[in-house]
Amino acid sequence: MNKCIALLLAAVLALSGLPLALAEEAPELYVRKVENLPEDFFLGMDVSSCLAEEASGVVWRDADGNVRDLFELLAENGVNLIRVRVWNDPFDAEGHGYGGGSCTIDTAVEIGRRAAARGMRLLVDFHYSDFWADPAKQQAPKAWAGLSAKQKAPLVEEYTRDCLLKLKEAGVDVAMVQLGNETNGKLCGEKTWMGIYRVMNGGAKAVREVYPEALIAVHFANPESTDNYLAWASKLDYYKLDYDVFGTSYYPYWHGTLDNLKQVLSTIAQTYGKKVMVLETSYAWTPEDGDFSGNTISDGGVYEKPYPFTVQGQANEVADVIAAMAEIGGIGVCCWEGAWVPVGRSSWEENAAKWEQFGSGWASSYAAEYDPDDAGKYYGGCACDNQTFFDFDGKALPSLAVFRLVREGQAAERRVDALDDCVLICDLNGEVSLPETVNAVMNDNSREAVPVTWEPIDIAALKAAGEANYTFHGEAGGREATLLLSMVKYNFVRNFSFEDSDLGMWRCTDLGGTEQLYCEEKKTDSLSGVKHWHFYSEKADAVCFELEQDLTGLPAGAYTYRISIQGGDGGETDIYSYVKVNGETVATCPTQITSWSNWFTPEITGVQVAEGDTVTIGIHVQCKGAGAWGKIDDAILNSEAE
Ligand code: CA
Repeated sequence: MNKCIALLLAAVLALSGLPLALAEEAPELYVRKVENLPEDFFLGMDVSSCLAEEASGVVWRDADGNVRDLFELLAENGVNLIRVRVWNDPFDAEGHGYGGGSCTIDTAVEIGRRAAARGMRLLVDFHYSDFWADPAKQQAPKAWAGLSAKQKAPLVEEYTRDCLLKLKEAGVDVAMVQLGNETNGKLCGEKTWMGIYRVMNGGAKAVREVYPEALIAVHFANPESTDNYLAWASKLDYYKLDYDVFGTSYYPYWHGTLDNLKQVLSTIAQTYGKKVMVLETSYAWTPEDGDFSGNTISDGGVYEKPYPFTVQGQANEVADVIAAMAEIGGIGVCCWEGAWVPVGRSSWEENAAKWEQFGSGWASSYAAEYDPDDAGKYYGGCACDNQTFFDFDGKALPSLAVFRLVREGQAAERRVDALDDCVLICDLNGEVSLPETVNAVMNDNSREAVPVTWEPIDIAALKAAGEANYTFHGEAGGREATLLLSMVKYNFVRNFSFEDSDLGMWRCTDLGGTEQLYCEEKKTDSLSGVKHWHFYSEKADAVCFELEQDLTGLPAGAYTYRISIQGGDGGETDIYSYVKVNGETVATCPTQITSWSNWFTPEITGVQVAEGDTVTIGIHVQCKGAGAWGKIDDAILNSEAE
């Protein structure tokens, strides 16, 4: 049983998501125009995996289905910056790549050269690690394991210089260099800011020397933890790190609102005179997986979903992040791994062979020696093939054009892009009225209720079948609508879970000087919802009260009554639930309290009620222990009639 029972009769709740698949014919994309977007604003794409993808046989196609050079395709869609990660040595002793593109500086040279050929600049993302560096991992390269920060600093400087010189010799236009990736309080095995600074400073010196025109960026994740961001910016200022750009990841699933992002980046920009940029973002265009290797984002996870998982939702996310950064004077937005499409569509076995050979999955089995706990256990394919700008066969999605279209915007007929599921909880003995509208997400990400037509639903049959859950479908705004319908027994107790602020239907009689006796709001102490009835006395032998509710107008018949209680330090107790009919106690059920979160639910069945009777349901609580406390929640009175 849960709180929903009390919501009875056509309580239609909008769930946060579960949109439907794209309609057959993709309609024209809506793109909001971003105001005040500077000509030189970075519209970036990380394509670090693309060479491993090509080696695996992947091709990319334009919207018409023609095979195209990836860089040409990106450039003609408005991308002007290519990002590439660089690992020191992502190979085992036999030369097997760790995967994730097994990206080294040689990868960056090739990608940078091809980007330059299409007029795009390069953002070099040094992880200063042999494999993935993120808030969870910042392992030093094998060759630097065990060295102190002081020892590492000149090695970082030398390594960075050598790498940048290779790029320079290849004629790569390096716009920006990152000193580490998502360095949330760790970098290259260092866990103190003194150590992190020394590593970063080594890199910064090399960048200034080889590419004096390039911007130096630092990169963090989790902007929703505003205090951390301000603290880290302050640390970098304290150590006087020489850098230009305070960069961040921004994944709306986990990273807070755009308003918060704007605020924290603006504060840092103004306080320290730095440029700011979103160095990574992405959004799912479908909840599906395309390569037989599970994705980070799919249906059913616990995360924010401010846009539906549609091509339009993805385009809106990108345009909104660009607009947010333009609004605060940020210098750019880079999408992460927007071309990491499945290496095959036939089988896991076929794909796995390619991931192992070419490093085109997120990790190969060879990475186990360096990263035994994660890659060693979970190596496999791409976990973000549903967040690219290409379908699973490599064909450009309409959303790829967002980088080009944000400058002028693109109008489109207002239409439904996705529908929220309808949740309906119905009383078996009551009226069942199906919702006439469902909540729709429109293509401009606004919301409105649209009329719905449901498939034929036999309500009499639902009622006859007793308590059960159903899924029905319908049509609304040209999309398939889903109705999650629960048939439940009616609960005659009003405000059964203490969630409504009007508690007038409840009567609490203190019989012994209970020190605390009231409705409390605390989700973790509630059985359902966020509120419950609370009692406590520091003094021994003080807790004694009755909590009850009178009910009239009940149909004649037999009834079942339940109420739940948890608590502790009760000492000797006398606790029982009871039912009175016309003031006479007709049934009681004893229970107890033991410790936090151990709920007891005494049940009384077979209570006979005649027409016109007044029924009182209640609980009697007496505790002799000092400090006795408890919580009461979810009183339920069901008819036993079918
Ligand atoms: Ca996948």
